[in-house]
Amino acid sequence: MYLYDSATHKKEEFRTHTPGRVEMYTCGPTVYHFAHIGNLRSYIMEDVLEKFLRYEGYEVDRVMNITDVGHLASDADTGEDKMLKGAKRENKSVMDIAKFYTDAFFDDCAKLNIKTPDVVQPATGLIDEFIRVVSVLLDKGYAYVAGGNVYFDTSKMERYYVFNDHDEEDLAVGVREGVEEDRNKRNRNDFVLWFTKSKFEDQALKWDSPWGVGYPGWHIECSCISMKYNGEYLDLHCGGVDNAFPHHTNEIAQSEAYLGHPWCGHWFHVHHLNTDSGKMSKSKGEFLTVSLLEEKGYDPLAYRFFCLQSHYRKGLVFSWENLDNAAGAYDKLIKRIAALTGEEGEVDETAAARFKEKFLAQVGNDLNTSMGITCLYDVLKAPVGDATKRAVLASFDRVLSLSLLEKAAALREKEAAQAKTASSSGGFTVQGEGDPAVDALVLQRAQAKKAKDFAEADRIRDELKAQGIEIADVPGGAVWKKI
Ligand code: AMP
Ligand code: ZN
Repeated sequence: MYLYDSATHKKEEFRTHTPGRVEMYTCGPTVYHFAHIGNLRSYIMEDVLEKFLRYEGYEVDRVMNITDVGHLASDADTGEDKMLKGAKRENKSVMDIAKFYTDAFFDDCAKLNIKTPDVVQPATGLIDEFIRVVSVLLDKGYAYVAGGNVYFDTSKMERYYVFNDHDEEDLAVGVREGVEEDRNKRNRNDFVLWFTKSKFEDQALKWDSPWGVGYPGWHIECSCISMKYNGEYLDLHCGGVDNAFPHHTNEIAQSEAYLGHPWCGHWFHVHHLNTDSGKMSKSKGEFLTVSLLEEKGYDPLAYRFFCLQSHYRKGLVFSWENLDNAAGAYDKLIKRIAALTGEEGEVDETAAARFKEKFLAQVGNDLNTSMGITCLYDVLKAPVGDATKRAVLASFDRVLSLSLLEKAAALREKEAAQAKTASSSGGFTVQGEGDPAVDALVLQRAQAKKAKDFAEADRIRDELKAQGIEIADVPGGAVWKKI
């Protein structure tokens, strides 16, 4: 596939260190709050990327961290500890907060058909490894101790890598929130590998280390977790665009200093989900979650569809109107698939192969998911049998994960249930929309009429009317429908 690499600023043919195998790493969530739908945009696009690579035939080894320690309010090591902030907000322990929001994150992912990576490693589970890598960086002269903390010395790198093709707005994220200068730093961009002189007296999680009791910096966790599980050569590193600088810049510096050779072959950054008032952000406290979408009656997969309609390298503006449009289009698509017949029919393999070839070329052009969706409509319109259409749609859905055939089958079942004769009693048949409680009332009304209790019959009719249900009398029974 061709994929834009944000380190080289070019769309390039994607290659891996070991042919046929992708070592892939994803920056995981900081679990001090629910993930917002902006965070989840990044995870949706990364999920499609992983699935597309598998679809192309690669074996993928995908690793993700869970940040449960060390991420301060500013990515440049200043401000409050985010986990501590979450614990205080809810009057719970940091570990309780981490467990609760990690579970909530994976629940949201499941609702959005986001596959869980092969390895998920909470940072607090690998502290010894971080200490070992920091010790090596000190031994190699890439790190120094100052004021009790251990810092990475960026001046020791031949080129301290900076991702510089992003909006100033995005680049500024890392330095915007905390402005106080850390006087222990030898160079402005140096960053903390291990904190012992914490600003927070009540720092909940602390570990012993050669430099005193403390806790790791945020950046070191991703380098260590990736190097442990992906090995020395990483093929693909993913994250939201705000992670590019300083987080990914620092990951590269640490990993290459430690390894002594280039580390990561390809950088994939997903641009932000924005609202009218700017980037959706957890720290601002006002954000949209998957649960909120559900409460408002949206299928979470309609949000996935919304995300797939736009390119990952463009900002995406969220509005209820935009989501409504996507939800409407998704429903229509499912309806069209539900109308396909010929489950038992034969698949035209030549036509199917042609469709797949086109899909691979379209989506393989820098993960063009909106073209992937266009391919679905092309299949539906094509002059081939329904069995072929069904097979090809199922195949594309291995990448897009929109539950196309499952949703279509569920819709067909619902429609069949609604069309079904609901109940009959004493030679009187009620046809309705599959609600037994309503059927029972309609039957009661029929009995009341038979017993000439017209007042009761009218009362029931009015009661149903108040529920938005209309009854029509037909020979031998009645039919009801929601209006
Ligand atoms: P966090 O939980 O803050 O560490 O962020 C988790 C992931 O979401 C990271 O990859 C971020 O870069 C990404 N992210 C944060 N805000 C947004 C946003 N508004 N739109 C898309 N991705 C985001
Ligand atoms: Zn990371």
